[in-house]
Amino acid sequence: AAPAASDLEKLQVLGHGNGGTVYKVRHKRTSATYALKVVHGDCDPTVRRQVFREMEILRRTDSPYVVQCHGIFEKPSGDVTILMEYMDLGSLDSLLKKNSTLSESTLAHVARQVLNGLHYLHSHKIIHRDIKPSNLLVNKNMEVKIADFGVSKIMCRTLDACNSYVGTCAYMSPERFDPDTYGGNYNGYAGDIWSLGLTLLELYLGHFPFLPPGQRPDWATLMCAICFGEPPTLPEDASEDFRSFVECCLQKESSKRWTVAQLLTHPFVCKESRSDR
Ligand code: ATP
Ligand code: MG
Repeated sequence: AAPAASDLEKLQVLGHGNGGTVYKVRHKRTSATYALKVVHGDCDPTVRRQVFREMEILRRTDSPYVVQCHGIFEKPSGDVTILMEYMDLGSLDSLLKKNSTLSESTLAHVARQVLNGLHYLHSHKIIHRDIKPSNLLVNKNMEVKIADFGVSKIMCRTLDACNSYVGTCAYMSPERFDPDTYGGNYNGYAGDIWSLGLTLLELYLGHFPFLPPGQRPDWATLMCAICFGEPPTLPEDASEDFRSFVECCLQKESSKRWTVAQLLTHPFVCKESRSDR
């Protein structure tokens, strides 16, 4: 059974997101550790909507590639807390800060797991919409799991307004900015693939691809680079397979971009799984 909120002891702050704080907590009786996301009842309505969306998605998902939710508590004060499995190495973003870049073999392993997670989500009609290094969590077994569903979308019936400006705009695909030019056959799922390609590129380069190292993104410059520039590519020192994989993810025209199912057959992720065993 999931621990009750009163059985949990806060150990440390793991991170602050917009509107909430994530703590490392310990279950007093079993000593098991968890991550607890706390969002205060008096936060603004947008944040509140995001928390409820996240709750709804976490309640529905059950995959080894998606961060597991052990319970959701709503207090009379309006505070909402989400109890999740604790990912002891933190996000890929923090891993990158510690290591400055990640190796190609690590990234093949990351890519395969994120693809498995996206395959699960997309086949359950969920678009994540905010795939980026800080939303991919890792544990010491090098299991990578997708987290943070605050701006995700559950597709129902029609391909409705999944084109709204949510998520971190730096990782948004060209068709999210300009559906008329890049959104042939637009269905929203392809946006997650763009973000995955950009994420892998960033983890390999050690900095966000559209900007020189250290430069803070500004919205207008980024939008121009994403919509009018050529998509970024891996440098020559990367393998042919890796370069090709990223290219398949970073097709500007969303209908040319590979789907999760196609990418799962790409040599970059297939070869690696053989040598894993
Ligand atoms: P961001 O804007 O960086 O995406 P956010 O508002 O989406 O932040 P979260 O992503 O939920 O908030 O959490 C913030 C940080 O807390 C994460 O970047 C991560 O470092 C840490 N964190 C969240 N969940 C867990 C977990 N289950 N295990 C370990 N660390 C976690
Ligand atoms: Mg996050």
